[in-house]
Amino acid sequence: MNSAHALLSIKGLEIDYPSRDGQGRVTAVKDLKLDLAQGEIGCLLGSSGCGKSTVLRAICGFEPVKAGEILLRDQIVSSASIHLPPNQRKVGMVFQDFALFPHLNVLENIAFGLQHLPSKQRSSVALEWLKRVSLADKADAYPHELSGGQQQRVALARAMAPEPDLILLDEPFSSLDIELRERLAAEMREILKANNITALLVTHDQFEAFAIADKVGVMTDGKVLQWDSPYELYHKPVNRYIADFIGRGVFVKGIVQSNNKVHIELGELDLEEDRSKEVGKEIDVLLRADDIQHDDNSTLLAEVVRKTFRGADFLYTLKLASGTEIFAFVPSHHDHAIGEKIGIHLVADHVVTFSD
Ligand code: ADP
Ligand code: MG
Repeated sequence: MNSAHALLSIKGLEIDYPSRDGQGRVTAVKDLKLDLAQGEIGCLLGSSGCGKSTVLRAICGFEPVKAGEILLRDQIVSSASIHLPPNQRKVGMVFQDFALFPHLNVLENIAFGLQHLPSKQRSSVALEWLKRVSLADKADAYPHELSGGQQQRVALARAMAPEPDLILLDEPFSSLDIELRERLAAEMREILKANNITALLVTHDQFEAFAIADKVGVMTDGKVLQWDSPYELYHKPVNRYIADFIGRGVFVKGIVQSNNKVHIELGELDLEEDRSKEVGKEIDVLLRADDIQHDDNSTLLAEVVRKTFRGADFLYTLKLASGTEIFAFVPSHHDHAIGEKIGIHLVADHVVTFSD
């Protein structure tokens, strides 16, 4: 995408905080870059402390920026020398704990951000947004009377009602039951898409990121390592860290056979990129759990060393003859014992490889 037409564009962002001893500064975000088009949903994915919330606060205007730029609709809103106040940015935020006003009912919570409208219109607009999140029957209820999922939808409606250009969501599912999360992620995506709203959320949960976002940025140490579609991240990780972080996989050794073939312990695989200059050399080949298929008729055997029941399938850890351990998803009616040798074959296409 041409960043000149992005709704949100961040370039070379750097943010630091006073260090704990008060003597210096520590960098929380560095050299961060991303673009989000109108109507797109983006997600920053990374473990706790990697700088996700700091980025959101900076976009809102709550955090000063040391270097780089944040642009909204091609206007610089944050840089080392420019700082547009939060209330002039047209950015809405949904906080981790939803932060609903406990003493206001649902309709009043949503109307709260609509002070610029005449009071009659305020209620009707708020009710309209409640309908869009399928909660019109809860207009008079108080937040404590709602389930976690309903509270989340109210928080979302409250953020959307003033029609901001961009909505930011900080770990929007983390306080909810695990079973609810996946469904709500899909539901939230539908609501945002139906209203053509641009959103950036942050999470540490890969499944959430993949369920909701068009673009995902894998973050570590204040940096986005790759900003791409979930499909590209999974199939074309730019480095070993991302390959390892996304999905369930291990690296096995392979020897390049020709420009487009690599030999690994389990057989030959087609290469995506031309490796004719590396024939005879050793490279790392990523084998994901979905690249290995269990087949009772296969003569290629691997020993079950661990297994995790996941409902529809097992995640098996399998040991190859060389001692290398790999993963495989196996339909759960194939309930093999630990220590048993089971037949497998390779079904990998889109092979991910790295040489040094
Ligand atoms: P995340 O949201 O990914 O968990 P944060 O953006 O909250 O990460 O924090 C990134 C880093 O910045 C952490 O090391 C955190 O301790 C530090 N940090 C965050 N907020 C402050 C602050 N107000 N003062 C000092 N350090 C902070
Ligand atoms: Mg955070």
